Amino acid sequence: MTLHNLDNLYRQSVMEHAKYPHHHAPVTEKDKHQIQKFNPTCGDMISLAVTVDDDRIIDCHFDGDGCAIAIASCSMMTDIMIGKTISQSQELMRMFSAMTMGENINFDAIGEAQILAGVTKFPTRIKCATLSWHALDDLLAHY
Ligand code: ZN
Repeated sequence: MTLHNLDNLYRQSVMEHAKYPHHHAPVTEKDKHQIQKFNPTCGDMISLAVTVDDDRIIDCHFDGDGCAIAIASCSMMTDIMIGKTISQSQELMRMFSAMTMGENINFDAIGEAQILAGVTKFPTRIKCATLSWHALDDLLAHY
């Protein structure tokens, strides 16, 4: 695969998630565990809600406004996290964060989100990509 194709794949996948985000639903006062995160560098604003039952994430959804990377990353994150235990998800968050810093990780473990490794080339976008992951990390710290 040429670099051009790789960039294309990256762009297509990000745009697809940004346009049709998964688990995108209003976060309301009914959501007991929720958090708002703002990335002032870019203007991304995300509300994230999580429901944990018996140490396992059974629901995770979000709404908000942001750039394609922020929304796509959040969409991919919800896909990965639903069904995981708290410790599994904390490990995945640690890996994702390491990946955005250019570290070599077990890419398969984070599934489609590995495509966001491309942000290492654009330091100002790292916060866009990690915003929702940090939001979930903060939320799970309460459990
Ligand atoms: Zn952004």
